[in-house]
Amino acid sequence: MQQFDVVILGAGFGGSLTALLLDRIGFSVALIDRGKHPRFAIGESSTPIAGYLLQSLSEQYDLPQFQPFCKYGSWQQSYPGLACGIKRGFSYFSQEPLQNFHVKPDHGSELLVTANLSDALAETHWYRADVDCFFADEVKKSKVVYLDQTKVSVNRSHVWEISGERTGEQIALRAAFLIDATGAAGIVPHALRIKRQTEFLTNSTAIYGHFEKVTPWAKILDRCHVSRSDYPFDCDHSALHHVLSEGWMWQLRFNNGITSAGFVLDGEQKTGSVEQLWASLLESYPAIASQFEGASLVAPESGLVSTRRLQRGWKMCAGADWALLPHTAGFIDPLHSTGIAHTLCGIERLVAALEKAWGTDGLPEAMSDYSESVQTELALIDELVAGCYRSLPHFDLFAASTMFYFAAATRFEHLRCREGEKPLFLCADDVGFRNVTRAWLDRIASIQQQADCEINEFREAIVDAENLLKPWNRVGLFHPAVPNMYYYTAAPESEPR
Ligand SMILES: Cc1cc2nc3c(=O)[nH]c(=O)nc-3n(C[C@H](O)[C@H](O)[C@H](O)COP(=O)(O)OP(=O)(O)OC[C@H]3O[C@@H](n4cnc5c(N)ncnc54)[C@H](O)[C@@H]3O)c2cc1C
Repeated sequence: MQQFDVVILGAGFGGSLTALLLDRIGFSVALIDRGKHPRFAIGESSTPIAGYLLQSLSEQYDLPQFQPFCKYGSWQQSYPGLACGIKRGFSYFSQEPLQNFHVKPDHGSELLVTANLSDALAETHWYRADVDCFFADEVKKSKVVYLDQTKVSVNRSHVWEISGERTGEQIALRAAFLIDATGAAGIVPHALRIKRQTEFLTNSTAIYGHFEKVTPWAKILDRCHVSRSDYPFDCDHSALHHVLSEGWMWQLRFNNGITSAGFVLDGEQKTGSVEQLWASLLESYPAIASQFEGASLVAPESGLVSTRRLQRGWKMCAGADWALLPHTAGFIDPLHSTGIAHTLCGIERLVAALEKAWGTDGLPEAMSDYSESVQTELALIDELVAGCYRSLPHFDLFAASTMFYFAAATRFEHLRCREGEKPLFLCADDVGFRNVTRAWLDRIASIQQQADCEINEFREAIVDAENLLKPWNRVGLFHPAVPNMYYYTAAPESEPR
């Protein structure tokens, strides 16, 4: 039976990267996945934090092949054959049921937030079929033992025993440490009977797929004679959000003609088939429907995906001889595109902790710290997302709620990139910030309780949001030169190397 220091279950980009980093620092590693690359996967829109973390990891562990993924320009130069999308920032458009999109004074139904300063320096949407395949191919070139198409079960005695079947052959491995990177499958917490986390503020479900021939939103705006002259970037070169009364829709456009699109709905899903639900949502929002006229679903092959409640988590995320990567530890919601960056943040912390504490008495404590930090981060993401859902009926309030995310993200970027600090993801360990986020949730709740809320009260609430965020607002949130059009939240950067 082959014995490894670490076995990793799940070869998404998270599991593959973890395997490569551990291999680099001298661990013996095996990586196992039940599937085979390339394959459809969701979780595509990256952020400046993700780009920064990937760059930092690739430098620290001498894996220069991952550097080009940090920016659109370098990606195109190095890997033009791997599909991705250009992401200049986040854009939001308020849609009202059974009405065409209409603009309001001071861009009251539009919000564009720039994340970077040029197309070359833009972040990207990862076409995961290509990206995950590339990461797994790099694993195959390393010393890591890579087993795909492998169904496993795990058993913990004094070490971990991993047994299974690969294309008809039995496999058996032993590991001193097991990392679970299987996402929702959560093999290790099931095996250890860890209790599920069930208390979440957010309550959402999603339906999604990959489409071709989706008409760019900019074209629809042009058809409706909506001026885009104030927009800081092409709104289709972004994580585009249509904000609805019952949730929101994401659209991520790749450079291979494919668009990832999904509705995320607040609360329980209506009954009926996923196709019926998709059709009825399009029917409710004619401007979005016109984007999908002539579009067709291309992936996954099984058809539109419909999820159960998206929020999930485990009460423990690591022990003395095991750890869950963040997307296995839990998930909240795709709003704010936190998943890729959170995964990279968790990998950075976990690999550093293993390197430092391996073979010492300090390992259990290091893993306990890791577990607590991932849970603290998920709790903050839940608060940031829940604030937005609770503000959905009022776009001004929704925009104010997104500012809590943008304040956290830009503060984190500043501390990491300029101050050299390593706070928890999105500064989840900043007690003051956590307090104002919770105060904002309370403030929204008080508005929700007033059935006949006056416009003045929304204005007052937005002023409150601005005041709450003052100590964290270093990038001019709330007062862009053009209302709701943020040109300069990004810190100046150099052209890619
Ligand atoms: C609807 C939705 C939308 C999202 N959108 C975004 C977004 O826009 N931006 C963002 O940053 N994040 C997003 N996320 C989060 C993102 O998907 C995750 O952060 C990311 O996929 C984590 O990567 P990973 O490699 O750790 O795990 P995964 O991508 O989940 O990979 C898990 C791997 O484990 C394998 N596996 C599963 N079960 C088993 C098993 N039993 N045995 C062996 N292998 C197994 C799978 O085949 C897969 O290869 C989204 C998530 C959801 C659910």
